[in-house]
Amino acid sequence: MLDSPIDAFKNDVRFRDHIAHVETIPAKKASFKKIPDLNDTIVDYLDSKDIKLYNHQADTYEAIKRDENVILTTTTASGKTLAFNLPIMDSLIEDEKATALYIYPAKALSNDQLNVLKDLESDLGIDIKPRTYDGDTPKSQRYNIRQKSRVILTNPYQLHLILSWHHQWERFYRNLKYIVIDEAHYYRGVFGSNVAFLIRRLKRIANFYGSDPQFILSSATLANPLELANKLTGEEFTLVDNDTSPCGEKDFILFNPFKNYRNSAESSAPSIHVVTADIFRYLMLKNIQTLCFTVSRKITELIAMWSKKDAKLTDGKLDNSRIAAYRAGYRPEERREIEDGLKSGKYLGVTCTNALELGIDIGSLDAVIISGFPGTMMSTWQQSGRAGRSNQKSLAILLAFENQLDQYYMNNPKAFFSKPQEKAIIDLSNPILQEAHLLCAANELPLKKGEALKYFNISDDVLDEMVRKDDLYLSRVGNYTYKYDDNPAFDHSLDQISSEEFKIMNNGRLLETMERSQVYREAHEGAILINKGETYTVDNINLKSGFVNVSKKNVDYHTMVLNDTEVNVVSKEFKRKYGDLTIHFGELNVKKDYYKYKKMQHSRVLGMYPLDLPPLKFKTKGLWFTIPQSVKDELKRMFPDEDEVFEGGLHGAEHALIGLFPLQVMCDRFDIGGMSTAYHKDTEDATIFIYDGYEGGIGICEKAVDVFVELLESTLDLIKGCKCRNGCPSCIYSPKCGNDNKPLHKKATEYILQYMLDETQKNNSKVVTEEVKVNDDDLYAQALNFYTEHQYSQSKDLLHEILNDEPDNLNANLLMAHVLYEQGIDDVATYYARKALKISPSNTNAADLLQKLQFTPAKVEFVNKKVDKTEEIVSDVETDKSFDDVDTLYEEAYDLFNQGDLDGARELLEELLAIDDTHVEATALMGFVYRMGGVFPKAVEYARKASKLDKNNDMVRELIKELS
Ligand SMILES: [Zn+2]
Ligand SMILES: [Zn+2]
Repeated sequence: MLDSPIDAFKNDVRFRDHIAHVETIPAKKASFKKIPDLNDTIVDYLDSKDIKLYNHQADTYEAIKRDENVILTTTTASGKTLAFNLPIMDSLIEDEKATALYIYPAKALSNDQLNVLKDLESDLGIDIKPRTYDGDTPKSQRYNIRQKSRVILTNPYQLHLILSWHHQWERFYRNLKYIVIDEAHYYRGVFGSNVAFLIRRLKRIANFYGSDPQFILSSATLANPLELANKLTGEEFTLVDNDTSPCGEKDFILFNPFKNYRNSAESSAPSIHVVTADIFRYLMLKNIQTLCFTVSRKITELIAMWSKKDAKLTDGKLDNSRIAAYRAGYRPEERREIEDGLKSGKYLGVTCTNALELGIDIGSLDAVIISGFPGTMMSTWQQSGRAGRSNQKSLAILLAFENQLDQYYMNNPKAFFSKPQEKAIIDLSNPILQEAHLLCAANELPLKKGEALKYFNISDDVLDEMVRKDDLYLSRVGNYTYKYDDNPAFDHSLDQISSEEFKIMNNGRLLETMERSQVYREAHEGAILINKGETYTVDNINLKSGFVNVSKKNVDYHTMVLNDTEVNVVSKEFKRKYGDLTIHFGELNVKKDYYKYKKMQHSRVLGMYPLDLPPLKFKTKGLWFTIPQSVKDELKRMFPDEDEVFEGGLHGAEHALIGLFPLQVMCDRFDIGGMSTAYHKDTEDATIFIYDGYEGGIGICEKAVDVFVELLESTLDLIKGCKCRNGCPSCIYSPKCGNDNKPLHKKATEYILQYMLDETQKNNSKVVTEEVKVNDDDLYAQALNFYTEHQYSQSKDLLHEILNDEPDNLNANLLMAHVLYEQGIDDVATYYARKALKISPSNTNAADLLQKLQFTPAKVEFVNKKVDKTEEIVSDVETDKSFDDVDTLYEEAYDLFNQGDLDGARELLEELLAIDDTHVEATALMGFVYRMGGVFPKAVEYARKASKLDKNNDMVRELIKELS
């Protein structure tokens, strides 16, 4: 039997050996339902069009007419639009003033829907004047639309800007009956969280004019539709998810370019992009209309470019004018031309980014190639749903990258096809978003007391703080008012958290805009930037003015930037115990220093070049956990002859966990960052941090804490299942590692993950969540408790925590002095006792202790090396120096260092540097302390800091000499 073109692919000798799995998704029959007592106009319409409503359409209709908020989650092409349009039209027929607002995530979509609504208007013979209102709407038409249209289609970006002009929209808002949010799954992460605030602002305006609109959401299938709907709007919803539309048979092929790669030692790694282009061309040559989704704009352009070049070599069998690339960032006319060209068949093959994942009408195609797992199952199904003509078999091919997640699915097709969709995350607690939208809201209408709580769940304290910062003004009647003339919405983009924007200019013309982190990665000095398939070199960047100048140049290499990451714990919010494994969650400071970049030709490194960019600093939220010394010792025993085994294991565990993060939580792998270290000063242990890559955090890591054990299990599976010897991109390598994937150790990674999983099984696998937002009083009570039980070092840990936040806490200073006194560390005890006395000069407890310290010789039983110093210290104490004098601290630290008390010295130096972080000698001494303690990276870090402060200082030079 001859293969149909669709079936030919999987049997073709060039491809079949790389097929990991073929899932044939059977055709599905429709089921219908009749709605009783339907409006006559609607009945006539359905009859004239010969439409029978599917079950889910009828259910939606009825729920909307019962005045319930509805979220409808069925597949692409299941008739979602009709399901909600009909009952809305029904209501608009009944109430001749009623209006409806349709919100689409992209302009292209609202244009598409406008035509649908216009057709309905004429078919039903009603007067609703549907119009789009967005950046493309001519000024001359705007007034009429505001005055007369009953159905307006817009996008969140436009709404964000025009909401403050609500007085011009009074008629529309007063009669607002429905708010339709189509493609609601698109509203997640940073954009979704922004839109959730925007929707609340919109509700507040509607309420102000006396309306209380009903919400209708439609979405691709996901795991938490009701939660998403509720987070997005603040309302309760009815869910309709019983998809009863028909569909044809489809082959879903998992294609692994790396399938046999490990077995053949001689060949170099395959390129998924080259393979994608091969398959794309193969399908086009068979005259199969194909849409090829890629993971980035850059690749979208590249594959189209290669395919066009190749088309020239096919002797006219393939016409390169029938191939195009499509992505966000193109002009609307360019995009529309391609959309229409797909429908008409003008285009045979189009490469695209996820911009075409949305419900833009391009008709149905024969085949879809998904080049690289798009990051979520939801996107995968949306994209594959683009293939499927009526009564004809269709094809979806997912090509795997070498990365963890892709390979995990290739090896676990069951997991792939049975996996419930992910949870979409919307986070309303990001303080930067909160402030930005409160400013907008206050500008739209002054905020009355309690209103922020009602609409945004934000207390008036936040507003009071904004008044203090001079962003808002508290009027005499007690309303929070925006005090400036501009529109704060212009300063806050819905796509990002920060409002900073960089303009990429070519020959004086704007090529595109980027945010700072993107400039650092893609448009730094020396970078090769790709835009619409063209390569550009970066000539210069001006970070102050926000301009980057580039020029077009053909090159055959690309660039990749490296960075150094520092993470510090700002505060702990809670910890979760799984058995004996503790996962901490809290606020973190992240500092990324992009210090050099590589020029690469395919995977060959052409050269390394230094970069001089100010570090990227942001505060975010993240999780972390520590790995004890015993694991390090065991690894040392297992691999006695290898260096950096433990470090390589931690680093590998960090990469692998991050690689599989999107398996559990809906996010892109680039939304999260990580850092691992064999010693971290905030935890005083080996630590792995994983954090949200956005200022203020966006809720990803917080969700990940809930599913951490599942994450751990799948990660360990992945490492154990990978056939490589020493690690590869499918297990522990990371494509965006700032350290160039060094050091990494696969066996140690497996050992550490196994250790963690074993810990979760101890203590009966009990799960306990503890809020650790203990206030300092509780900490102090615990510290006192430890002290009375002679557990001095535990007590000191807690006291350090208090003093970090509050250096002048009298009780903590005093108790610290007592603890140190008991430990016989008299010199440091003296320091704390003096400090306590300085805070409260009449404190007799402090005075008594100081008396004891000054006139009692050091306790003989304590470490001998201290004894000979006693006299000197006592005499030192008797001179009346200023206690806060950093030099005193420095001298004491120096003494401790000479005595070999590294911990003592480090503690004092930390205190000192907290007061004065430009103290050159103290910074250098800290370097020596870490050097002596064997914490080499820390020593280097302080050497670097000290040398920045004064590279000619003798001590700094000595330190650098010792380290090099
Ligand atoms: Zn591997
Ligand atoms: Zn790394």
